[in-house]
Amino acid sequence: MQLNKLTIAQAREQLDKKEISSQHLTQACLKQIEKHNSQLKACLTVSSDLAMSQAKEADKRLKMGETGPLLGIPYLAKDNLLTKDIKTTAGSKMLENYIAPYSATVVDKLEKAGAVLLGKTNLDEFAHGSSTENSYFGPSINPWDTNRVPGGSSGGSASAVASDMCLFALGSDTGGSIRQPASFCGITGLKPSYGRVSRFGLIAMTSSTDVIGPLTKSALDAEMVFSVISGKDEKDSTSYDNLHSSREFVSDISKVSKIGWVKEHEKDLSPEVKEALLKTRKKLESLGATFIDISLPNIKYAVPVYYIITPAEVSSNLARFDGLRFGFSKSEASNLKDYYLQTRGEGFGPEAKRRIMLGTYVLSAGYFDAYYLQAQRVRENIISDFDKVFSEVDLILTPSATGPAFRFGEKTNPLDMYIEDKFLAGPSLAGLPSISLPTETVKDLPFGFQLVGSKSGEDMILKVAKSFQENTNYHLEKPSLP
Ligand code: GLN
Repeated sequence: MQLNKLTIAQAREQLDKKEISSQHLTQACLKQIEKHNSQLKACLTVSSDLAMSQAKEADKRLKMGETGPLLGIPYLAKDNLLTKDIKTTAGSKMLENYIAPYSATVVDKLEKAGAVLLGKTNLDEFAHGSSTENSYFGPSINPWDTNRVPGGSSGGSASAVASDMCLFALGSDTGGSIRQPASFCGITGLKPSYGRVSRFGLIAMTSSTDVIGPLTKSALDAEMVFSVISGKDEKDSTSYDNLHSSREFVSDISKVSKIGWVKEHEKDLSPEVKEALLKTRKKLESLGATFIDISLPNIKYAVPVYYIITPAEVSSNLARFDGLRFGFSKSEASNLKDYYLQTRGEGFGPEAKRRIMLGTYVLSAGYFDAYYLQAQRVRENIISDFDKVFSEVDLILTPSATGPAFRFGEKTNPLDMYIEDKFLAGPSLAGLPSISLPTETVKDLPFGFQLVGSKSGEDMILKVAKSFQENTNYHLEKPSLP
């Protein structure tokens, strides 16, 4: 087997037995990138020299007898994660040539753990979107069908993992951006609980829901990456340690998995999606899970609430890009006002501008109470619905998307794109961990289901996810590359 096709767990075993070297593994990934990136456009930057020197270093450590989950494992990072010495663009003209003076905590942690950074992946500008069509650098392509989007905003990461350009990739998920592209590209995507992974060095989108997590070829691999990147970081006051999990760790799936079936979602399932989800449910039942009908009465407000709170936070987080401190600047303007107008007018794409304007509006005097404050109140109700349900069940099952990957240009109306987040925005607003795993195809395309856990319940979702994959082959399917 080509080395770049290995899972992390497989490569780990072979590296530890000295059957392969990190340098060979890294070379195989770089070769795959070279072969397919011009078509798939998954990576924006490839840092081959740095990767080879990190791989050499990892081989030295391996030779000394050291090991660790990710020692010598090559990966790609979404281009909204700061990397010292390598460009970080956030998919925006605003940061087209930006090189950060420090790396994100997750990138530092991975470096210390001996993982090998291959480069940076494409995304919707500032992570706003569900298709990568909002990237200033043009969209990434879905390796399963080149006429279709890979999902977003971590679409470059998903396309790269699905086409074996790396062993795993990092993404960020604010309202679905790890789970939906994982679903569209037939891979596994883990959104950890809010705060469980440090956000330091992630270019902020919606600070109250942003989470960094892995896109991988299996749930076991997701667990391996999560074990390295999670934990308290003094540079992010919302981060916390891994010490507690919501329940005792139990090794038998039938003892942990009372799974909730959301009544309110039923009407939102297309016949094909419903069929895939019912088959998934059957499989989980055959593994020992029991299903209980549950009600989340306020879940119907998740998308509207998300699209008030998100623009509000975006408008504040993007205020720093004024051309004066860093980023793109328009130097020929003759006065300060024109300077701002031209810099921000040219530096941001249409979706970022739409969100800035919407956010400024919902925060403005006179509208603050009616929109922003009201949205925060409804958010509390959504959270309390989840709290109630988790006294009855361990996990919740939903689809990861409303359907399989759509075609480029199919969703030109922003509202059509926003509604994509129907099953994803709720867990984000509540800060809950969730994972997307590939299941039955829908219209002959990959499709994923989502398991949502209670706060800090990663152990539980990973347990059930691993058991599902030990007993099914969906995650082993690969696209035949263009
Ligand atoms: N589709 C969502 C949005 O556009 C998801 C974004 C994200 O998770 N970064 O806001």
